[in-house]
Amino acid sequence: MNIILIGAPGSGKGTQSRLLIDKYNFVQLSTGDVLRAAIANKTDVGFSAKSYMDQGKLVPDEVMIALVEDYILGQKGKSVIFDGFPRTVAQAKSLDLMLEKNAAQIDKVIYFKINPQILVKRLTGRRTCSQCGEIYHVETKPSSKGHICEKCGGSLVHRADDREEVIGERLAQFEKNTGPTIEFYRGLKRLVEVDSMSEPDVVFKEIEKVLALANKG
Ligand code: AMP
Repeated sequence: MNIILIGAPGSGKGTQSRLLIDKYNFVQLSTGDVLRAAIANKTDVGFSAKSYMDQGKLVPDEVMIALVEDYILGQKGKSVIFDGFPRTVAQAKSLDLMLEKNAAQIDKVIYFKINPQILVKRLTGRRTCSQCGEIYHVETKPSSKGHICEKCGGSLVHRADDREEVIGERLAQFEKNTGPTIEFYRGLKRLVEVDSMSEPDVVFKEIEKVLALANKG
């Protein structure tokens, strides 16, 4: 089963991906994580993506589609969580074509619905483990070890694009590009909404229900 987690930055897609991977047999493609790793490793993709990311803009479709195509080739037969991709209708249409080549498809698109006012607080307080990607929040989920990850001992970082100056543009990009992508999937009757303002374990239970239904159908 392949699923897409779609929602605004800070809506909880990364947290839920981790919970799903811990319990089920999924692999995760977080395009944001892949791009951050590419920047850290000073690759060509990282170099071209960095200026877009620093400004909160979307990396061009052709770069993203090539990156995902590469990834999918190695995942034949596996269940994939797409986290942060697609973000545009063009990416969504390409994803269907890429999966078709593997005789696969997207089974469910889970839309993380949230009140935008909450997002700024979530993002400015978010801290991410630089090694394992575990997600914390300075107020709602602080690490008991301060700036160190409880799970792996890595250092926690405040992502450059989780600053208030950049968040506005990221949310604007979400409205402009990802809004129509959500409607695209709604039109195809693949979209399911979850209330991502609830606590993570409540959201997780909702997602489990969606997956159980999809498995039956
Ligand atoms: P994320 O970690 O998902 O919030 O992504 C961080 C940044 O990476 C975004 O603000 C974009 O600049 C870039 N990015 C990640 N995924 C995509 C995508 N599917 N299309 C375009 N840009 C992306």
